[in-house]
Amino acid sequence: VLLPKNVTMIKDLESTNGTYINSAPVDAHPLADGDRIRIGASTCLQFTLEDDIEANLRDHLYSAATRDALTKVPNRRVFEEQLERATAYAKRHGHPLSVILFDIDHFKQVNDVYGHPAGDEVLRHVGQLIRDSARREDIPARYGGEEIAVLARGIDLEQAMQLAERLRRLIREKPPQFKERTLTVTASFGVAVHTGETRFYDPQALVTAADGALYRAKRSGRDCVRSA
Ligand code: GH3
Ligand code: MG
Ligand code: MG
Repeated sequence: VLLPKNVTMIKDLESTNGTYINSAPVDAHPLADGDRIRIGASTCLQFTLEDDIEANLRDHLYSAATRDALTKVPNRRVFEEQLERATAYAKRHGHPLSVILFDIDHFKQVNDVYGHPAGDEVLRHVGQLIRDSARREDIPARYGGEEIAVLARGIDLEQAMQLAERLRRLIREKPPQFKERTLTVTASFGVAVHTGETRFYDPQALVTAADGALYRAKRSGRDCVRSA
């Protein structure tokens, strides 16, 4: 068979359930934009052709819906979804799950003294530090105004404390520049871990516990890490 260039083919590799394109069983078949592919007993896929402009637009829309524009870390909605999923997984498999919550110290002063754009620059900078240092398994997110949460999977309390401590030092030791001025930035950290012994079955309970620990870090003089 002579095919035009760039045709995508689908081929059934002698599967038990067969492969269907738009309800018709096929063996080897070229795919057209919008074709519905049914494989297995209940999986339906749609084949879509898109050009670079459409692909860029889709990426852009996806990013706008899931990422915080200032810090470029995922937004709170994504965090809540991931937390829900990760809690269920951790429970089922008996794996540890940590939430690290931190809040920039005296942030209102940055806005008051240097102006709102300086505050924005601090947030952008902290977002970048966190993105650059997060492991693949970690999900950082902008949880509130100047609060960032990190969902860390598969590490125990001691490792979560080490991670929080590393982030605390990073923020203190890599300050941002604003209009040729170096701004001093510190943050206070709260850590809560779901493990075999301390079970936070409710995902929100894990965040509440981290928030309580963060509050104690503030009360202890800020720029420090406390665990729940
Ligand atoms: P603490 O050490 O107790 O956390 O003190 P704080 O000043 O950081 O806490 P407070 O909650 O009083 O102030 C938080 C400030 O963060 C107030 C709010 O205007 C500011 N803020 C929240 N979101 C943004 C933002 O996107 N950009 C800027 N520039 N400021 C923000
Ligand atoms: Mg603050
Ligand atoms: Mg705050």
